[in-house]
Amino acid sequence: MFGQRPADFQLTQAKLAQMATTIDSAALLTYRAARQRDQGRTVTREAAMAKMAATEGAQQVIDAAVQLWGGAGVVHGNVVESLYREIRALRIYEGATEVQQLIIGRDLLKEA
Ligand SMILES: Cc1cc2nc3c(=O)[nH]c(=O)nc-3n(C[C@H](O)[C@H](O)[C@H](O)COP(=O)(O)OP(=O)(O)OC[C@H]3O[C@@H](n4cnc5c(N)ncnc54)[C@H](O)[C@@H]3O)c2cc1C
Repeated sequence: MFGQRPADFQLTQAKLAQMATTIDSAALLTYRAARQRDQGRTVTREAAMAKMAATEGAQQVIDAAVQLWGGAGVVHGNVVESLYREIRALRIYEGATEVQQLIIGRDLLKEA
C-alpha cells in the first residue's frame, strides 16, 4: 500500500497491539479461573468473566483481522473469513454473553 507494507503503518501496529492485549487478557482470566478451580475454590464469577472476555474478545480480534486483510478478508475460503463465521456462535452457546453478565452482576451484588 503506497509503497509500504501494511505492518509499517502505525494504525496497523495499534490494531495488532489491541488484538494481542485482548487475547492475553482473556487468557489470563481463563488461567485465573482454572487455578482457583484447581484449588477447589468456587469460580462462578471468574469462569463467567473468562468465558465472556474470551468469546467477545475473539469476535473483536477476528473482526480486526478481517479488516486488516481488506477485501481478501471476506473472500470465501480465507481463514479469517471462516473464523468470522465460526466465532459468532461461541457468544451464544455454553452461556450467552448476557447470561454471563447476569452471573457476574449478581455475584458482585451478593458480595456487596
Ligand atoms: C452452534 C451451537 C451449538 C450448540 N451446541 C449445543 C450442545 O452441544 N448442547 C446443548 O445442550 N446446547 C447446545 N446449543 C444450544 C445453546 O446452549 C443455546 O443456543 C444457548 O443456551 C442459548 O439459548 P437459546 O438459543 O434458546 O437462546 P435464548 O435463551 O432464547 O436467548 C436469546 C437471546 O436472549 C438473551 N437472553 C437470555 N436471557 C436473558 C436475560 N435474562 N436478559 C437479557 N437477555 C437474555 C440471550 O443472551 C440471547 O442473546 C448450541 C447452540 C449453538 C448455536
